[in-house]
Amino acid sequence: MAGTAAASPSCIFCQIARSSTTTTLLHTDEKVVAFQDINPSASRHYLVIPVDHIATVKDLRRRTEDYSLVSHMLNVGQTLLSRDAPNSIQYR
Ligand SMILES: [Zn+2]
Repeated sequence: MAGTAAASPSCIFCQIARSSTTTTLLHTDEKVVAFQDINPSASRHYLVIPVDHIATVKDLRRRTEDYSLVSHMLNVGQTLLSRDAPNSIQYR
């Protein structure tokens, strides 16, 4: 994980992205990780988060490169869902 953004030690997503929790990661690459929601409200509920700490969605909108990051997050989520639950596509 070559994250350059400052990780927040109290941020659960940063902990998960750095594999410092027991959460099973469904997907990892240099930009994002995906995992199953700890309290799934749907039978298949995946979260896809950036490896770099991004405090809020607002912080994503500043640079064009972040647009490609968001697109990548959506692609990973769609890929996981179509692989594991092709009949129950759900988004939040
Ligand atoms: Zn974080």
